[in-house]
Parts: sequence; structure tokens; C-alpha cells
Amino acid sequence: MRIVRYSRQGDVGFGILEGDTVASIGPHPFGAFEYTGEPLEAGQVRLLAPVLPSKVVAVGRNYAEHAAEMGNDVPAEPLLFFKPNTSVIGPGDPIVLPRQSNEVHYEGELAIVIGRLCKDVPLERVSEVVLGYTIANDVTARDLQKSDGQWARAKGFDTFCPLGPYLVTDLDAGDLKLTTRLNGKIVQDGRTSQLIHDIPALVAYVSAAFTLLPGDVILTGTPAGVGPIAKGDRVDIEIEGIGTLSNPVVTLD
Ligand code: ZN
Repeated sequence: MRIVRYSRQGDVGFGILEGDTVASIGPHPFGAFEYTGEPLEAGQVRLLAPVLPSKVVAVGRNYAEHAAEMGNDVPAEPLLFFKPNTSVIGPGDPIVLPRQSNEVHYEGELAIVIGRLCKDVPLERVSEVVLGYTIANDVTARDLQKSDGQWARAKGFDTFCPLGPYLVTDLDAGDLKLTTRLNGKIVQDGRTSQLIHDIPALVAYVSAAFTLLPGDVILTGTPAGVGPIAKGDRVDIEIEGIGTLSNPVVTLD
């Protein structure tokens, strides 16, 4: 099932994408829902980020080759950080380069979407709390990540967390191809089977620290090949079985 969140003539809703139509659902996809109204043509709606998370929890250095390209060791336990929900944008929305940074990077990542309130989830019950998967760009001001020490600002600027285009359920995400293209050229080419800490391990570890709410998002880390983006660029992140998340890059001046 491909769940979308969309806006149309000022209304915002959830729907199921089936072919070229979006079937509206209510009240939301976290639990039992009903179909509401007539199906809409996909071209008549604007897709938004598929969820509005209370928090985005991200993990650093979860692919060995990416840790190595940054000159870092692989941490023994997942290295967690937050991205504020105000950094979330949807497919097609522009990534705005902040004037405080001279080196902003793309990071293509698989995103886990939580379906129900949970805490201390044991490994064998992780599948019960995961609603599905989407694609994320963990946009990072690399210079500020180094100079600040703490990553809050470098990872948390407005527009630094593109999510979408769909939330896909019923997907085995253990070995999916992830490809990032910068202006059409392949710059990242990895597989989710290369995750050091896999999906069950991440959900168990994160939920041992934080209560997770429906719609919360866990970013699983980026493969090797990160690099800078500039005004006028376009970043396309494709994950097998999900789709492609595309965002242009702009400045405000
Ligand atoms: Zn990342």
C-alpha cells in the first residue's frame, strides 16, 4: 500500500495511491481507517511529506564505507541525533541553503515510519510498531557539524529533512537498493543490507530511549558518496520498492 499526504485546494488529507488515482482516507493511516469521498486524479493533488512526525531520530555512521569516507570509526552502538520536525519538507519542495554554511551535503537514507505509540520494543516485536518506509534526505551543513561539535544546528535547519514521496507498507526493507543522483549523475549507490545496525536493532535501541509516537520517523544512515549541493542543483534519491524523492536546491537571495 502506498500512503500519501496531499493538499488540494487548501485541504490537506491522507490517501492511498492506486495507479493514477488517490483514494482519500480518514481519519488517518495509524490504525483503522475508512475511504472517504471520490478518488482524486494524482495530477490534481500536491504531495506533501507523508507524515508530520513529532520527532525525527537519526543515526550517524551506520554504513561502514560512509564512516570511513568521513575519517571516522564505526561506533559500537548506534549514534543518535534529532532533526526537528520543522526541518521536514515534502517531495518537490526546495532545500534552502542557509547563509551560515558554505558546505551543505545531501545524504540519501531509508526512513522507518512508526505506526503506533511504543516504548522499549523488543527485537521480535519491531514489525508490530513499524507502519512502513519512505525516503529521506538527511541534509547536513558539514562545516557547521564540525565547528559546532553538537549536530543540532548542522542537521536541523528548516528544509533539511525532505521526506517522501510515499509511505510504503508491506515492504521487506532488509535489502533494498538505494541510489542518489545529483543533477542526474549517480553519487551514492548502496543497499540497506549494508546497514551496520539493522532495522529491528535501530527501532529497539531508539525506543529504549524515547517513547515513539505514530508518524515518528527513524533515519537509518547514509551510504558512502556524500557530497556538496549548490543553488540550482536537483537531488533525486531512489529506493527500490518505494520510489524517488526529488528536491531542488535554492538560496533565498
Ligand atoms: Zn545521515
